Amino acid sequence: MCGIVGYVGDRNVYDILIKGLHRLEYRGYDSAGVALETPEGKLNIYKARGKVSNLEDFCKDKDLHASAGIAHTRWATHGEPSDNNAHPHYSQDGRLALVHNGTIENYKVLKDALIEHGCEFKSETDTEVLVQLIEYIKITNKCSLIDAVREALNQVQGAYAIAVLEKDHPHEIIAARKSSPLVIGIGKDEFFLASDATPIVEYTKEVVYVKDGEIAVMRKGEGLKLLTLDNVEAQIDVAELQLSISQLEKGGYPHFMLKEIFQQPETLLDCIRGRVVDGGKTIKLNGVEDNQEVFKNARRIIIVACGTSWHAGLLGKYLIQEMCNIPVEVEYASEFRYNHPVLFDDDIVIAISQSGETADTLEAIKIAKRHGAFVYGISNVVGSSIPRETDSGTYIHVGPEIGVASTKAFTGQVMVLTMLAMCVGRLRGVLSEEKVEEIGKCILEVPELVKKVLELNKDIERLSAIYTYAKNFLYLGRGYSYPTALEGALKLKEISYIHAEGYPAAEMKHGPIALIDAEMPSVIIAPYDHLYEKIVNNVQQVKARGGSIIAIVSEGDNEISKIADHVLEVPRVPECLTPLITSIPLQLLSYYIAINKGKDVDMPRNLAKSVTVE
Ligand code: GLU
Repeated sequence: MCGIVGYVGDRNVYDILIKGLHRLEYRGYDSAGVALETPEGKLNIYKARGKVSNLEDFCKDKDLHASAGIAHTRWATHGEPSDNNAHPHYSQDGRLALVHNGTIENYKVLKDALIEHGCEFKSETDTEVLVQLIEYIKITNKCSLIDAVREALNQVQGAYAIAVLEKDHPHEIIAARKSSPLVIGIGKDEFFLASDATPIVEYTKEVVYVKDGEIAVMRKGEGLKLLTLDNVEAQIDVAELQLSISQLEKGGYPHFMLKEIFQQPETLLDCIRGRVVDGGKTIKLNGVEDNQEVFKNARRIIIVACGTSWHAGLLGKYLIQEMCNIPVEVEYASEFRYNHPVLFDDDIVIAISQSGETADTLEAIKIAKRHGAFVYGISNVVGSSIPRETDSGTYIHVGPEIGVASTKAFTGQVMVLTMLAMCVGRLRGVLSEEKVEEIGKCILEVPELVKKVLELNKDIERLSAIYTYAKNFLYLGRGYSYPTALEGALKLKEISYIHAEGYPAAEMKHGPIALIDAEMPSVIIAPYDHLYEKIVNNVQQVKARGGSIIAIVSEGDNEISKIADHVLEVPRVPECLTPLITSIPLQLLSYYIAINKGKDVDMPRNLAKSVTVE
């Protein structure tokens, strides 16, 4: 979840680390810290609770000269966010400094044993156990740091990406990973290390993705060395980074989230480029084309995902069932793992994750593979774990998403699922050529239509002022608009901290209708589709109970517009494409309500991007 940065080389170590932490701050921001090793072999640690800017303030009068360094932004799992619990952690004799991303599951047993051996702990973290264990092994076995790290990691259960510095070794970083991402950037006589490539991109395009169970040795003046936990040298695969710095900056917008909302016309175009071809007549997805038999013969599809990706997955169910006539189940990856999944070898499991690193989704993939299912991944980050672990898949290609609340990745995921459903539907003979062409043509228009929806920006900003102080919200929709309602409610919760519930509009009368009064606004997603007349009734039911209504409707709507208090009109599209259009005003509404409340939309409290913790 959190971010790790490391550097060894001749540049200004501290500057690289701080800049890197800023780039990674979206992954966790409970605290931040750096460990700097001076060329003379002195090891200094500075850390501060809160954001990276607090750390910078703290470091103003400190000794910052260094030849190697490691740094961290934390998303606390063990112990509250505090200065003490912040990483890096020293070992007891102060000779080692370590940063860690992930969780050590057997930390309690290890900690008790270390305490018995006289170890004193300064923090409540599971991480400190690891650094103390490494030191203990190093001293007891009189071995090198690499041997001690390897031995310690063989005793540890859980997930980790770590980086370690050793006093008197001023030009060396040791790092390792299991179930938590780590990338090494290779420069000339220098190494960069990070949890994802964003801090590395401005220095080098040559990267090595560390694999599970590998230990990396980065020594200035020597080549990179990778060792397995069994002490065997591993092969080094250098990849070229496909990322540019401009993709990582705000580009004139006050927040990443707003930039990412406004990027959607472009990102959707990138997502469909080369995939919706011949004027919309043909949908080409390599992942499906290369596995035609698997998709033709599949008896069932199970979609596993978490959070926003789960909402995209739910839309995937509607799309695939309509276009392919295959039964689809949608599961939270964290539940799927433990609910004794019954899988057959003609099942396809589709795993969706923006980062490609979501811990629960990765575990669900492993279970699905163990049961012999074919696993298809949908993710955004090239080279991340999910594309590597799955049999096949599709990238959404929407560029780096930095805002913690997902926006462009959601629409990218929905677009990929739409194309996948069309491709498979055609393959299985459920969807006619004419139908593909009809929808395909409209898909090509979606980026322009999204641009049009974004023109509602000012109206939504004004509207948001009226509802900023509501304590609760209900989001209602039917059919394709039901998952959209869930996603709209999640967006509001995530960044404004207002309680919001998404519900199938017709299900409302079985419970939530009791909540409706003048204080409880409802956002109703009601584009023109085959359930339109039905949802008109639901809108009436809310109105009859004195609830105020914000309705998202199609252009030219003349029924709901008359009942609702506020109406946002969006262009008409075929029903299966409506979520790509109606989700946009919902994103803007949450954004402006959160801004009105003075919240930090890019780094909402308690959340983090890329949930690599179970
Ligand atoms: N489990 C560690 C802690 O709570 C690391 C959490 C993280 O990934 O930031 O300090």
